[in-house]
Amino acid sequence: MSARPQPRPGVMQIEAYVPGKSSAAGVAKIYKLSSNETPLGPSPKAAEAVRGFNHLELYPDGGAARLREAIAARYGLDANRIVCGSGSDELLSLITNTYVGPGDEGIFTEHGFLVYRIAVLAAGGVPVVAPEKDYRTDVDAILSRVTDRTRIVFLANPNNPTGTYIPFDEVKRLHAGLPPHVVLVLDAAYAEYVRRNDYESGLELVATSENVVMTRTFSKIYGLANMRLGWMVAPAHVVDAVNRIRGPFNVNGPAMAAGIAAIQDEAHVARAVEHNERWAAWLTREIEALGLKVTPSVGNFLMIHFPQDAGRTAKDADAFLSSRGLILRRIDAYGLPHALRLTVGDEEANRLVVAALRDFLNGTKTHA
Ligand SMILES: *Cc1c(COP(=O)(O)O)cnc(C)c1O
Repeated sequence: MSARPQPRPGVMQIEAYVPGKSSAAGVAKIYKLSSNETPLGPSPKAAEAVRGFNHLELYPDGGAARLREAIAARYGLDANRIVCGSGSDELLSLITNTYVGPGDEGIFTEHGFLVYRIAVLAAGGVPVVAPEKDYRTDVDAILSRVTDRTRIVFLANPNNPTGTYIPFDEVKRLHAGLPPHVVLVLDAAYAEYVRRNDYESGLELVATSENVVMTRTFSKIYGLANMRLGWMVAPAHVVDAVNRIRGPFNVNGPAMAAGIAAIQDEAHVARAVEHNERWAAWLTREIEALGLKVTPSVGNFLMIHFPQDAGRTAKDADAFLSSRGLILRRIDAYGLPHALRLTVGDEEANRLVVAALRDFLNGTKTHA
């Protein structure tokens, strides 16, 4: 017996998730480009729904029926196959806790979203990392790591923080190669941003198989990160199991009201896609013209690679940019210490980033 309570095995192996910074010492105006939030904000209708929300004393609808119906109508789904969560992070944990127990293995990719590792360890499971090829998911590397202890495979498509994706043919090949008892989680947090003919989020695969789950979020293109709202769509038996361990009132009323308004405002989403198309391409061009390598991204963020010589590293760049109020994301925790992740911002922020990177590379001392 120990002298004080001990966390379960796995818990102390977790490096707690460190969110992107949102401030910089001594700088008045901050441009937060570290968390892939949208520069357009939420639909005005969603903001209005939150402001007009009444009856804070009443419990929310624990079944999130109206929100599930709105999502189902928008995506042509069966509302009974949808579960809503307090952010998709909560759903990723719920799915993992439903299928992974002590000693079971969960596979994710080398630079995959950090929440997967945390979820697997928190469930007592064993994280298994599949190497990537050129910052891209390697389906064969995942398949070669499947054992009879494998219970879950996570695929962020597109992936954060790399911004890369795999075509739907590759997703289908991954699914076809997995044993039927393994849950394949398709995390499509950035699906709305992708404009590629060979990309599909995989809703069709969820509908036609017994072991594929998709998670989606209102935090990114819908601009509702602060409300904590996500959803998943899954086979009926998965929905049934996950609902047994879900907190009975895990999504709050203002979040649901905002989500319903947001998902119906397709014009707002279209504006966000258009803004992103234009500025992601512009940022990529301009930053590459400065001599930095940018990994081609299909999301609303870019991974920028820095040299490793003194004074020009990603760490140095981060300090320089921060001194001008430009907050990017260090991604050392993703095994990417020589890169920074930049969220596509509004025009002002985007132009300031390029100007600051130019000054940084020219050896200018901090302030312009
Ligand atoms: C941002 C993000 C999420 C969404 O998290 P929420 O909990 O819904 O805010 C999920 N997966 C990936 C890969 C992300 O980048």
